[in-house]
Amino acid sequence: MVTGSGTYGQPRCSLCSEPAVFFYRPVQRHLCRTHLFTAIEQRVADTVSDRNLIVQGDTVAVGLSGGKDSTALMMILTKLLPSWENVRLVAVTVDEGISGYREETVRSADRLARTLGVEHRHVTFPDLFGDSLDAILRGRESQACTICGILRKKALASAARDAGATKLATGHNLDDEAQSVLMNVLRGDLPRLVRDSSADSSGRFIPRIKPLRAVSEKEIATYLLLHEAWMDLPECPYARHALRREVRSILTSLEYHHPGTMLHLMESKGKIEKNCIGAIATGPLHSCRECGDPCSGELCQLCQLKKTLDRELSGNRP
Ligand code: SF4
Ligand code: ZN
Repeated sequence: MVTGSGTYGQPRCSLCSEPAVFFYRPVQRHLCRTHLFTAIEQRVADTVSDRNLIVQGDTVAVGLSGGKDSTALMMILTKLLPSWENVRLVAVTVDEGISGYREETVRSADRLARTLGVEHRHVTFPDLFGDSLDAILRGRESQACTICGILRKKALASAARDAGATKLATGHNLDDEAQSVLMNVLRGDLPRLVRDSSADSSGRFIPRIKPLRAVSEKEIATYLLLHEAWMDLPECPYARHALRREVRSILTSLEYHHPGTMLHLMESKGKIEKNCIGAIATGPLHSCRECGDPCSGELCQLCQLKKTLDRELSGNRP
């Protein structure tokens, strides 16, 4: 096994003698292009099989925003598809109506779905809720991500249902998941910390799966760059209002100074989950009083939001 630097000081892959393109800091391992691709794709395949995220006969709707994570997810799932029996992929793109931002990522999603030959469906906020996110948020910009999150979730679920999907895959990566763990701890939201959205015993939700949950943002960026699929896309103009942004910057700094921090956070979540089975009341499933959708209280999040916004989010059924 050849490790460390080559003749001219260029690091070599820890698994072969090829030039290294990536340094995996938690285990101090250099990887060449081929071994990096294999490591990432194998980790996604393992995440899927260890957790039974995709099973024979599934139709998997992939939330394809056109951004980095969903692009990598679509590419990797397409590559792994032949290894699963009788599984179908369909890309679904939600256009919230965010001026100067979403148009470009939707174009990128269209291009990718065409290149990969995957069926592609679009839904828009104006169609589903009667207005664009920009219009809905006017004067409420500081709550942008909370409002957008609830509406996006409904929109994706609606598109997945219309596509006949049995699973809904999203591009959340290791960094996103570690940020969510920390955010839920900071908010004191233990039920949400241990909720498993990929398991649905009631049969009333389409289970949401996150095949990239063990792959870091840095690995995804390198994967896309080396596939020449990297795109310099604008950032959502509302992102600056998000708590997630602050948590992200704290975690990035911690990960830099203490490699493995994000993995440790995920391990902590796993241990809390294991020790808390049945101990944390997540409440029984009800039907929303207004729309009949499954929810934990009297009203689902969307119907609560409608009341808070004090406006009709009209349009077609979400
Ligand atoms: Fe929606 Fe916030 Fe993401 Fe923008 S940053 S797309 S507002 S959740
Ligand atoms: Zn409702």
